[in-house]
Amino acid sequence: MTIISFFKRASQAFHGCSSYTKLLILFTTFSSGGIVAYSESQSEINNTPPAEFNRNERKKKRVVVLGTGWAGISFLKNLDVSSYDVQVVSPRNYFAFTPLLPSVTCGTVEARSIAEPVRNIIKKRNGEIQFWEAECVKIDAANNKVFCKPNFGSSVVGTEDFSLEYDYLVIAVGAQVNTFNTPGVMENCHFLKDLEDAQKLRRSVIDCFEKAALPNLTEEERRINLHFVVVGGGPTGVEFAAELHDFLQEDLVNIYPMVKDLVKITVIQSGDHILNMFDERISSFAEQKFQRDGIEVKTGCRVLSVSDKEITMKVKSKGEVCSIPHGLVVWSTGVNTRPVVRDFMEQIGQANRRALATNEWLRVKGCENVYALGDCATIDQRKVMEDIGAIFKAADKDNSGTLTVQEFRDIIDDILIRYPQVGLYLRNKHLIDVADLLKDPEGNDRKEVDIEGLKQALSHVDSLTKSLPATAQVAAQQGTYLSRCFNRMEECKDNPEGPRRFRGSGRHHFRPFEYKHFGQFAPLGGEQAAAELPGDWVSMGHSTQWLWYSVYASKQVSWRTRVLVVSDWTRRFIFGRDSSRI
Ligand code: FAD
Ligand code: MG
Repeated sequence: MTIISFFKRASQAFHGCSSYTKLLILFTTFSSGGIVAYSESQSEINNTPPAEFNRNERKKKRVVVLGTGWAGISFLKNLDVSSYDVQVVSPRNYFAFTPLLPSVTCGTVEARSIAEPVRNIIKKRNGEIQFWEAECVKIDAANNKVFCKPNFGSSVVGTEDFSLEYDYLVIAVGAQVNTFNTPGVMENCHFLKDLEDAQKLRRSVIDCFEKAALPNLTEEERRINLHFVVVGGGPTGVEFAAELHDFLQEDLVNIYPMVKDLVKITVIQSGDHILNMFDERISSFAEQKFQRDGIEVKTGCRVLSVSDKEITMKVKSKGEVCSIPHGLVVWSTGVNTRPVVRDFMEQIGQANRRALATNEWLRVKGCENVYALGDCATIDQRKVMEDIGAIFKAADKDNSGTLTVQEFRDIIDDILIRYPQVGLYLRNKHLIDVADLLKDPEGNDRKEVDIEGLKQALSHVDSLTKSLPATAQVAAQQGTYLSRCFNRMEECKDNPEGPRRFRGSGRHHFRPFEYKHFGQFAPLGGEQAAAELPGDWVSMGHSTQWLWYSVYASKQVSWRTRVLVVSDWTRRFIFGRDSSRI
């Protein structure tokens, strides 16, 4: 009873609208897996078709959001929908908590526990957000239109392609796997990009064990079926290898005793170390742990092709080409642009870029009313050196042709906001006073500098401009940032809050997007994890795994998924993982 009343209270607090919220508490027995789940029956979802929707509500600006991943959902959750007509297009009618995808591949958590239906998220807005389960196939920025294809085969009655008009478009379609055009990868590898991939992978892992346990196989054939190869030593590949190892050690050894000694896990990495985007200490901790666990790490190898039986690679140091037989290959090596975004980039003159370039306010370069965020976009940070003349002119208030320290101080706040690389440079060089920037090359104070002196002072700052990583953290922060800008669009037109425009006049309406890094985890299996925390802190081991549990439970998008995930972890502790091939 206490558990039930706790969740009742928690969900009431969460929804804060108990008058119309009817809670249905479902208590499922411990033996069947879950502890408590609740669902909510509430007002009907408005399913008005797009055309009618457009007619009825013309007065408000129309916002079309493409994608229901980290960026799209955090934008929608924070947007003030009373000011906009919002339509959402995505081929998935759910949000997936991607950091737990590797846990789904071995049944540590169930697929449905990390998925939240989009309609659950948007119904809180009483139908003011419309959702269309479809894929955007073309963006026509010249005519403010997107073309969409419903996510159903032609066998369904009445499913036709449709188009939507917008005043503002928010592109948050994420990225797709990058095969680097390696032959055979698409046909013969598994991926770990969305929930369906994880579910498929879970079935295939069990298939490999069942195949290896069949009669009449030679030992060599059993070994091949149980050789799991992971291509890519980044966080996803490493976490999958660790999960698989745990699954094997904690559960499968008991139920497949006949083949347990034949299993092998190999991680192939093209660089010299796995987890090379992390601190060196984490990467060597992971390598040592994998060595103890018997997971083979092949570094410095580039995969040339993958067939249904073998994976062929080149060992960079020796220049040799070798092939190894496999039972299953997981390809996890970075991301690539989706075709709809690529086509859009070609239309707007960004054909030779890697990702859709936006300015620091997340607006797509070359478009007035199109925004892009998350994995599909990259911020093109303006260089100080491009604007140095304008900066000098703005700072030199008395037009003397020189900048005094005071003149520089008067403008530095705007510089720090507009060009964050300057702040980064000051921190890297441990410069406390901004006037230190104006010192001459010998380190002597200067009372004033001319344009050449200013160029010299700031000549190294642009090299610190970094593009942001393709992570959920970045995508979610961008979604929240953009929704806040949308919410205050009118207000900030009259009272701009951004830095001064060095090339033009006045101020920018908003402050540019600023990313705050809260650290990054790498679960390594055996109830151990590594974490890189802000301020160059590194933490590794069992306690970090508990930190991981608490952070990932707290980051869930709803109380429903939070309860499901925690109950899955509890179930796994008590009963182990389920090896049914469902
Ligand atoms: P996504 O979350 O990929 O969402 C894209 C959305 O667009 C989806 O809803 C998709 O259905 C939709 N879409 C696709 N094509 C179209 C189309 N044509 N039209 C309309 N909609 C479309 N990041 C972290 O910070 N920490 C982690 O621990 C972490 N772990 C990860 C583990 C795995 C296995 C993976 C794959 C990623 C992980 N990431 C992690 C990265 C993180 O998931 C991504 O950076 C994040 O999902 C990017 O968010 P997004 O909104 O840009 O894209
Ligand atoms: Mg002057």
